[in-house]
Amino acid sequence: MRILDIIEGTSVDGPGLRTAIYFAGCLHECPGCHNPQSWPMDAGKEMSADQLIEITEEADADVTLTGGDPVYQAAEIMPLCRELKRKGRNIWLYTGFRYEELMAVKVSRELLDYIDVLVDGPFIERLHDRSLLFRGSSNQRLVDVKRSMPGRIVEWQSDF
Ligand code: SF4
Repeated sequence: MRILDIIEGTSVDGPGLRTAIYFAGCLHECPGCHNPQSWPMDAGKEMSADQLIEITEEADADVTLTGGDPVYQAAEIMPLCRELKRKGRNIWLYTGFRYEELMAVKVSRELLDYIDVLVDGPFIERLHDRSLLFRGSSNQRLVDVKRSMPGRIVEWQSDF
């Protein structure tokens, strides 16, 4: 997997103090993107699932997959997510795709089996709102994946 960065103890990419893994590669080209240096697919460095597990276990925190858009590496990310779930981690995933698009493709649908909350959709500058929790623009949803299905999206609710 191509990894740009790993930030431990972040509180802006989901509830609690989490380990955020930034995956390289994004083709959405959202105007106003906060991180255009993440767009090249070959940015960052190659890391294995074992290396990432070692880091997340040392941090002993839940995990957020962000970027870039991790979904471009969905097949490679799957073993990492499987192991994180086996260790009982809560996983959030940020993507420029919408939930319905991911559910329509086998590899991303399978990836969602391991995801607790999906923050979906492209960043839209005119819908940018700093007051939104854990997302940049109001079109983006916090999808409670376990309770959602196409045609019936259940949004994640904060309990704080
Ligand atoms: S999906 Fe995210 S990383 Fe990709 S262009 Fe849009 S804002 Fe930037």
